[in-house]
Amino acid sequence: MSRTEISTLGEFGLIKHLTQDLKIKNGTTKYGIGDDCAVLQYPSEKQVLVTTDLLMEGVHFDLTYMPLKHLGYKSAMVNLSDIYAMNGMPKQMTVSVALSKRFCIEDMEDFYAGLKLACDEHGVDIIGGDTTSSLTGLAISITCIGEADKEKVVYRNGAKETDLICVSGDLGAAYMGLQLLEREKKIFESQQTSPNGAPTEAQPDFAGKEYLLERQLKPEARRDVILKLTEAGIQPTAMMDISDGLSSELMHICNQSNVGCRVYEDRIPLDYQTAVMAEELNMNVTTCALNGGEDYELLFTVPLACHEKIQEIKEVKAIGHITKKELGCALISRDGNEFELQAQGWNPLKE
Ligand SMILES: [Mg+2]
Repeated sequence: MSRTEISTLGEFGLIKHLTQDLKIKNGTTKYGIGDDCAVLQYPSEKQVLVTTDLLMEGVHFDLTYMPLKHLGYKSAMVNLSDIYAMNGMPKQMTVSVALSKRFCIEDMEDFYAGLKLACDEHGVDIIGGDTTSSLTGLAISITCIGEADKEKVVYRNGAKETDLICVSGDLGAAYMGLQLLEREKKIFESQQTSPNGAPTEAQPDFAGKEYLLERQLKPEARRDVILKLTEAGIQPTAMMDISDGLSSELMHICNQSNVGCRVYEDRIPLDYQTAVMAEELNMNVTTCALNGGEDYELLFTVPLACHEKIQEIKEVKAIGHITKKELGCALISRDGNEFELQAQGWNPLKE
């Protein structure tokens, strides 16, 4: 594989090289890359949504098993997911990268290939960013801008008593994928340090676990779900995306909405592979679904009157309901017992 040092292009040369074939897709993008600022123009009936995310190597991602193309794709997706979580549509993105000497031009081409793929799939313009050097590794900062009609924006604080709690897709698989990758990494590393120094041919065995890897390495922001809800005329009362785990996100919605909730263990959507992997690791699959992060599914509440409409959307499942605040937040287990929900979500600032 060829390796071209970044110094051969320099910072400006690198940005030009990576962004030269970008074509503007949105009318709201008046000017993209090439001047001191990008220029946007949104019609006055729209509200503009802005979200930003900082990803650090060794904290948020591990390049041992995360290919750079996937990292580019995932970095974009986590931001797109936040725009959808406000019931908006993403339109523009800025991408800033700090990289150490370990990285070459081909690496950045791979990263950008993933980024562009995600932006093409979601109709988003890359309108700017910055590239600089880092002493320790790779850092990625992405800002995404989107739009929504004023009356369509959905906050976390609108859930009302008796509302249905819904989630899209299934939960816990990305976390199981991470456990799988971490396990194989440890096996790989122990082989590398074997005392006889003989080369080992052992390849990780991911057969039958492809879905878990895909969920960890190539998550998909749920544009499709937002479009289905709009099509069905459903306006969620509260919504957020599940990045830290269902349990902690539910508590965010309940705290901000000043309500309580009941969710039913037997209604939490799980994939078969998630259940198999949890058993293999001796973990409780419900705990994984409640506290495992990075699902990037949507968690939202709708008025009870939307029940039938929700049942018709196959990507979405009702898992419980909103209650009075005094009742707290609880999970009803398969055998009918109540457990208070705890936010054990993934938080890098908390030990
Ligand atoms: Mg979010």
